[in-house]
Amino acid sequence: MTSQTHLFRTVAGIINSVETFEGAGFLVRRPFPKSSFSEFDPFLLLDELGPIHLKPGQAKGAPDHPHRGFETVTYILAGRLEHRDSEGHSGLLHPGDVQWMTAGAGVVHSEMPEAEFTRTGGRLHGIQLWVNLPQSDKMSPPRYQEIPADQIPSAQTEDGSVQVRVIAGEALGAKALIETRTPIIYLHFTLQPGATIVQTVPQAYNAFAYVLDGSGEFGSDQESGNDGQMVLFAQDGEEVIITNPAEAQQPLDLLLIAGVPLNEPVVRYGPFVMNTKTEIQQAIDDYRNGRMGKIHA
Ligand code: MN
Repeated sequence: MTSQTHLFRTVAGIINSVETFEGAGFLVRRPFPKSSFSEFDPFLLLDELGPIHLKPGQAKGAPDHPHRGFETVTYILAGRLEHRDSEGHSGLLHPGDVQWMTAGAGVVHSEMPEAEFTRTGGRLHGIQLWVNLPQSDKMSPPRYQEIPADQIPSAQTEDGSVQVRVIAGEALGAKALIETRTPIIYLHFTLQPGATIVQTVPQAYNAFAYVLDGSGEFGSDQESGNDGQMVLFAQDGEEVIITNPAEAQQPLDLLLIAGVPLNEPVVRYGPFVMNTKTEIQQAIDDYRNGRMGKIHA
């Protein structure tokens, strides 16, 4: 081994998704957490809901449930999701919309397909990412940032072969509107066949790509990653390189997500993620005794 720093990061591993049922029984593809890979500091979970074509009446969601100690980031690609919470907050997420919810000290919320969408059925596709909060922010007041699709900063290369939607961080000169508690990059890239992106991701960040559609070549070693796989980059460079091969039959659609690790103890129990077992016990007790509130009809 030499101490030489690579310009481009290498790939540290490829993680396959497992299929699992969430909420009232909807199927998600989940690269993590699983027993062999429980977190990727500061990220705690990634779920891909669909893409699935639902028959009328078939859509299911996640009825009232709490969260404490982290953030949930919901990104809708197809279909419509309705949310309500214990703070009296409610809204409807359309394709391309992002909801960045800082649960902090606690919210009780529901995430359900919109009634009209459930009635008619249709294509449903969404992504949920859980971002851990540092100890100092875990008991902060809940906060919502909701950015409608047409306000998400976006950019493309001159030849149009690479498009990006900037949910957090910066890419191709576009800068995100969302404010994050710790440094986070969340980019949705679409690469036409033959296109390559080189994205700056400072070495202090843990970085991964998740392939939404197509397949590509990742990192300086050009490892292949396919639909439903998570590609972990090593912390050995300042830039990430990804290519959709020229012979590809379709665009490569992916999320590039990165964050500075918190390096704090993680104790998780379902919807609560804290630093100690005592804090988890407190969260369970607070929820059971209604101290995280409830959703009023
Ligand atoms: Mn939730």
